[in-house]
Parts: sequence; structure tokens; C-alpha cells
Amino acid sequence: MQTSSGRLLLAAGVMFGLMTAQPAWAQGSRTKAAPRGKAAETADGPQTCTSKNFVVHTDLTKEEAEDLLVRLETMLVLISKYWGRPNSQLVEMYVVKDLKKWPPGSLDPRGLESIETGGGVTLGQTLENRATGEALAAKAVVYAVADHGTPQHEAVHAYCQLNFGRTGPVWYSEGMAEMGQYWKDKDSAVNCHEVVVKYLKSEEPKTLRELVSPNQTTGDSWQNYAWRWALCHLLANNTNYAPRFRPLGLALLANKRTSFEDVYGPMAEEISFEYLFFLEHFDRGYRADLCSWDWKTKFTAVRGNASAVCKIDANQGWQASRLLAKEGETYSYTATGEWKLGKDGEPQTAAGDSEGRGVLEGIYFEDYKLSEPFSLGDSGEFTATQDGKLFLRCKDAWHELGDNSGEMAVRIKKAK
Ligand SMILES: [Zn+2]
Repeated sequence: MQTSSGRLLLAAGVMFGLMTAQPAWAQGSRTKAAPRGKAAETADGPQTCTSKNFVVHTDLTKEEAEDLLVRLETMLVLISKYWGRPNSQLVEMYVVKDLKKWPPGSLDPRGLESIETGGGVTLGQTLENRATGEALAAKAVVYAVADHGTPQHEAVHAYCQLNFGRTGPVWYSEGMAEMGQYWKDKDSAVNCHEVVVKYLKSEEPKTLRELVSPNQTTGDSWQNYAWRWALCHLLANNTNYAPRFRPLGLALLANKRTSFEDVYGPMAEEISFEYLFFLEHFDRGYRADLCSWDWKTKFTAVRGNASAVCKIDANQGWQASRLLAKEGETYSYTATGEWKLGKDGEPQTAAGDSEGRGVLEGIYFEDYKLSEPFSLGDSGEFTATQDGKLFLRCKDAWHELGDNSGEMAVRIKKAK
């Protein structure tokens, strides 16, 4: 999965009368981008398979190649929908399962080099207007090994290259290409390789500053790709950051003057908090959208007989109770309603089951730090162990919240 995206800027300053990639030029480029040293199509050697958007030269079996084309086409629909731009040109790809089956000279040396190390590369060329930086036309050819989702990863680069003329800064380009290979329609759950989960959970988190640093080289290591994926996945799915992430990406792809810091700088502490939270709790199946932190709800220290009232959904992460707790103060609470863990789960109260699943639990948030969580139940009293905003949730495995249902109406007031 060591992959990289090469880039060649063609002589800039060449001006066409037209300011965007036009069909005439695009067709010309398609001819020019034809296989360099066309693969010999022997019975056992590489064959060429085509679909609506792809021309794939490969030594995969016919069935494997057709399966790959289906996955590539499915992914292309999803990413073009996300970026809001239909693909304008055929994506040409060399997908290699067994290098021995490829005659010498049948692959571009730069592509061959990547494939020999088990990765992939997208060789792109963009014709730019030197004065404005606008991409006038582009072409891209992908070289990739057949496994680890490398063809899908590189196809994301090729799509960006062909349709925007560039793929964005390394953190964005590689993070989104990794996302692309995992993308499923109407399913935003974490779907990365198991090895990525294990790696990210075993390491000291990289800082956001490191992650988005401009001084990075593409194709550095699969570990760095894992960090970039984590950041892009979070920003694309967490409801606090997703609305700004797509426009940021489009601006980066259009080479506009903007950056991660420009867009998210004012929310740096919030993002940092949620990024670390994500790394601690995510797994395959985790839903970053359902675990988005609530930064908006107002919390108040209840007085007299007043209550803090909230609704807690079983299928979400920590949610605002509205209670601003004071250390040493004792509160009484009730939680009424029913919820279910999973589609076929038994309806439960906030007392949870015998193993503690489904119990109403609480946590204090203060100064971007969380306390240890503690169990509540369907009614009772608790004494605050610190000052802080009280958040509540239905206790369940963090990556299994999506299929929960039901909610609790919770009331909290000072104990008599
Ligand atoms: Zn890449």
C-alpha cells in the first residue's frame, strides 16, 4: 500500500482560447496517453479490459478484472458525487498481479518502480495557465499492484488529476485516496483495513500540525497514509467539520489560497479534542457522525427545584445533559423511556442489562478534558467528583452504536 502520486507540470503559460479542459484537447490527450510500450496481449500475458470510465491493462484473470472494474466504477460514482464533478475522461490503468507476465518495456519505468515496491503511482500532467494557476487540461495514467485497494487508491488520484488538474496537498490527496478505496454508498462507518486500526491505536497520536504540514512527500509510508486517512475520515464525517471540509477540498483542488489552518484554525481545540477522541474509540464500524461532540448546547448550574432536562439517544455518543455540575454537589436524576442495543435487542431501561450494557452512563467535560465515565441507571443520586459539563450516553461498544434505537428522557436536579 505504499503509493505515490507523481506530478509533471507541463510547460506553463501555454494558453488555449478556452479556459477549461475541452473535449477536443481531451480527446487528443487520450490518444497521446495511450499505452507507452503497449502490453503484449498473449494468452497468458496482460489483457485490456474497459468499462464506462476505465481502460485497464492487467494480468488479472478475466473474472478478477471484471470484478475490479465494477469496484472502480462504483467508487467513481461515489467520489464524483462527493466532489460534484462527473468524470470527463477515461482513466487509463496498468494493474499488475504478477510482474513476470509483463514483457520488458511494457510499463513506464516510473510505474514499474512503484509496482516493484508493492505500491502504485499516478503519473499526471497538467497544463496550467501560468498567470492564474488554472488547470487547462490534464491527463493521468495509473500504475498499481492488484491488491490492498491500491488500484482504487490510485484511481482517486487519477480522477482528481483529470477533473481538477491536481490532487491537492499531500495530507488531503493521500487521505482522500485512502478514503476512496474504502468508500461505500450510504454507509459512513469506518471500513479501513484491520491493520490500520491496530497501527493507529498502538501509536502516540501524531499532532494535527504534523499531519497537515506542507513539508511532506507522497509515497512516504503506509503508516503516514493511515494518519492522513484518519484525519480526512473524521473531517468528512463528523457533523461539526464536514460542512467545511468539502468546500475546503474543492478550493485546494482548484489551487485557491486556503489551507487547513485557514478553515479550521478557529476550531483548533475542538478538532484536536475530537481527533484524539476518535483515535481512542474508533474501530471498524465506528460512526464519526453519531459521535460528533455537542459544542452548542448551553449548560447551567441548576438552582432550587429547577431541573436540567435532556433526551439521550441510544445510537449516539456522549450527549449534553445541560447540567453544569459542581464538585461535591449531590444530584438526583430519573431516566424514563426504553432503548435497544442492536436491531434485535430486547427493549431495556436505563438500568441496562446484567452485564452493564445499555446502562445510562455519565462523564464530565472540563477544559477539553474528560473524566472517567461512571454508571448511572434509571434513577438515583450521584455526587459530582469535579466541576464540569455532564455528558450522558447509552453504554455500548463505540463501534456498534449505529444499530441502536430508542431514547431516554432524563431529568436532573439538586438532591434534597
Ligand atoms: Zn496516493
